Amino acid sequence: MGAAPLLEVKDLVKHFPIHKGFIISKQVGAVKAVDGVSFSIDRGETLGLVGESGCGKSTTGRLILRLIEATSGQVWFEGKSILDLEREEMRELRRDMQIIFQDPYASLNPRMTVGDIIGEPLQIHGIARGQEKDKRVRELLEVVGLASYHARRYPHEFSGGQRQRIGVARALAVNPKIIVCDEPVSALDVSIQAQVINLLQDLQEEYGLTYLFIAHDLSVVKHISDRVAVMYLGKIVELTDKESLYDNPLHPYTKALLSAIPIADPILTRERIILEGDVPSPINPPLGCRFHTRCSVAKEICRHEEPAFADAGGGHFVACHLVNK
Ligand code: SF4
Repeated sequence: MGAAPLLEVKDLVKHFPIHKGFIISKQVGAVKAVDGVSFSIDRGETLGLVGESGCGKSTTGRLILRLIEATSGQVWFEGKSILDLEREEMRELRRDMQIIFQDPYASLNPRMTVGDIIGEPLQIHGIARGQEKDKRVRELLEVVGLASYHARRYPHEFSGGQRQRIGVARALAVNPKIIVCDEPVSALDVSIQAQVINLLQDLQEEYGLTYLFIAHDLSVVKHISDRVAVMYLGKIVELTDKESLYDNPLHPYTKALLSAIPIADPILTRERIILEGDVPSPINPPLGCRFHTRCSVAKEICRHEEPAFADAGGGHFVACHLVNK
């Protein structure tokens, strides 16, 4: 038997209630942002979580860290049921579970120096104060490829890529075990994206980190992920190791996402699968397979029966009637 996963997510659900009425407010519906998501991540592994905006991937990341509370489901971290922890226990556990946000500018307090931004979690968790904290901040700046004198500067004095490095240093400060990377390179120029991804990979090797890497584009997670989960409208529709996903995608949605990635080799061509229509509303997701309104190979059964999320062989999980017959 292999080692237990570091993180296990079971049937996670987040429905944001919609209320109507000013004086007497009552719930009239719910945004089904995350609707029964399950996966696990092993120690030292990177799981890529990919899907179009609004599919629930960032909400999933926030639910795991309890930055927002789940409607139902379970999240296990090192054998602890996170969703059942008291506030104080959760505060302690946050040391092990950090997040890097998409917009490095919005997530860094513009009135604080970089030294204070990176040093804050050290202080909050009682890890280091005074000179010891300053020394640790200088070390962290160097680890992420910045200089120790940058500690005295303010976020606006840095480029987007450098600001993301500050975000990484802040997340690393408390020696976490897992980092939720929530679209950490989406706001950066393509040339800078690779630098930040390489940095995250180097740090993973050096510190044995585990990542949940969230992105809206399959090309971004290809380099860094060991396995990839594809999300559509609140559910995971395909989950497998990187090679299987990129070489042999099984779900029509994954195939469409992959077809949108340009190929560097001019001799190779790939037929572009254009996804018709918009993503349906998560308030009223389509019955049956949620993807059927945009799927070019949908059958009658897809309109009324939800496909099971099942192993199509070798741990390649997919939710599609055409694959799991
Ligand atoms: Fe398309 Fe049907 Fe498969 Fe859904 S279950 S992805 S609609 S073929």
